Amino acid sequence: MSTKLKHQQQGPASNNVVAMPSRCACEGCKKPSDLMNFCGEHYEWFKFGLITKEGKRPTDFDKKYQAFRKHHAA
Ligand SMILES: [Zn+2]
Repeated sequence: MSTKLKHQQQGPASNNVVAMPSRCACEGCKKPSDLMNFCGEHYEWFKFGLITKEGKRPTDFDKKYQAFRKHHAA
């Protein structure tokens, strides 16, 4: 029994791959994305409306962040 199987025909990597960010979309965050392109922490932010799905902060971010902190300070 002598089978010669070579797995060299994988094709060029990253040739036609759509670039999906694997990092958290929040500006300045370097964590890997977990849910909806956000890390766990920033996904909470997104759910609370602290950041848009692009990871941008709304103009009233400060106010919302205060409310968010209160909401989580149980
Ligand atoms: Zn993050």
